[in-house]
Amino acid sequence: MIQGERVRYLNTRETPRDAAYVLYWMQRAQRATMNHALEHAIRAANQHQLPLVAIFGITQRFPEATARSYAFMLEGLRATKQALADRGIGLAVRLQPPVDAVRDLATDAATVVTDRGYLRVERRWRERVAKQISCPLVQVETDVVVPVDTASDKEEYAAYTIRPKIHKHLDRFLRPLEETSLERSSLRTAPGGLDLEDIDALLERMRINRSAAQVDTFRGGASEADCLLDKFLARKLGAYADRRSDPSEDLLSHMSPYLHFGQVSPLEIALRVKGAEGVGEENREAYLEELIVRRELSMNFCRYNAEYDSIACLPDWARKTLGEHADDRREFVYELDAFESAETRDRYWNAAQREMVMTGKMHGYMRMYWGKKILEWTPNPEDAMRIALELNNRYELDGRDPNGYAGVAWCLGKHDRAWAERDVYGKVRYMSAGGLERKFDIEGYVRKVDELALHSGAGDS
Ligand code: FAD
Repeated sequence: MIQGERVRYLNTRETPRDAAYVLYWMQRAQRATMNHALEHAIRAANQHQLPLVAIFGITQRFPEATARSYAFMLEGLRATKQALADRGIGLAVRLQPPVDAVRDLATDAATVVTDRGYLRVERRWRERVAKQISCPLVQVETDVVVPVDTASDKEEYAAYTIRPKIHKHLDRFLRPLEETSLERSSLRTAPGGLDLEDIDALLERMRINRSAAQVDTFRGGASEADCLLDKFLARKLGAYADRRSDPSEDLLSHMSPYLHFGQVSPLEIALRVKGAEGVGEENREAYLEELIVRRELSMNFCRYNAEYDSIACLPDWARKTLGEHADDRREFVYELDAFESAETRDRYWNAAQREMVMTGKMHGYMRMYWGKKILEWTPNPEDAMRIALELNNRYELDGRDPNGYAGVAWCLGKHDRAWAERDVYGKVRYMSAGGLERKFDIEGYVRKVDELALHSGAGDS
């Protein structure tokens, strides 16, 4: 079922009479299953008795994207292209900015169907396409369980304010999506695109930012996501509520890179977790809280707060208290370079940074500590936010995501409350190395990262 709230017309153009196909503009949801936008496009093609052609335009200058993120995305697209072909849909992947690629192909389209993105650049692209094409542009929201505008029509203060608003709708939205068969294949007629068989060769000739190299810890693609999810459900979910925070253990699902590139549907993960047997209700609930409430709070944040990447996004109390402590003496101050090359005096922080650089994914708990310390060791909160976002977006496979903007802002007080006042942080929540030592086998974590470095041979990009 595709609930009406997921669907929105982004322009008011009429459907042309002599169209050759329906065009599916794949953007954020880069997958062939559990994709409401794709199913909507298939139904539209059947209604018009036309084939469905899919397009993915790659801009080589996506803000802050690196060889690391392009490689992961291309691996995913290669698998998706095959999966779409199995459904009779030709996907053309082009080295062309999305707006241009879609505008070119839209001239023969009855209608264009796309997915929804929440960041500035993603919204701008859709606005431009809506204006530049002469057929309807339909947006279908598929990368959240509850559509963002349905959950709330304003920026939410914190998880506790959005939670009941999301839960109220779960019965209606936490439902499987049926697949429709495409009646007219486009495999023979679809326009050409890139050959995705040799991704290394393709990456080589692309003009992209190479400041973070490809990693082999996580490979892109829906079947990779599927394997990791199977493993998570079978071996880790049962301990998720109690032990997920311990960075010396590996009890996380690793779904975030796949969610970021839309290679897996949050709805599918949620349904599988909900239906998991023998794992305990508290674990299912803890996971769904992260996947649905926390993740969709981040989307709410980027949707309604235009300043999501600057300290202007912070609540008044946090901006005020950070301002009052702006001149406090910092015990240590580092520049971007020292952070980037993990050369602080703090071994735990350095281990987290190295884990991110080497694997493309820092442990979730360490991300909080990492961000808090950047606040503590930079001259002011503006620098802290800039440096944290720059490193996060360069090295994390799941970077450049609403979750990253919300996560970094959280370190500076967003979606949180005031705590006891102290130097530098003011009333913003503080985290300490002592806390890590008390709660976890943090030396075990450092050893784990050291071993990773040994096996990877280098440990940098
Ligand atoms: P799991 O624990 O298995 O969680 C499953 C899913 O729930 C995640 O994939 C994610 O979609 C969601 N989730 C979990 N924790 C959070 C959270 N705190 N907020 C919102 N959603 C959550 N997440 C990103 O996806 N991209 C980022 O760039 C990013 N940067 C962060 C930076 C900082 C400073 C902080 C504090 C957090 C950041 N997070 C980011 C949120 C969180 O740390 C990651 O989503 C999580 O570690 C991903 O690993 P996982 O999928 O194995 O997590």
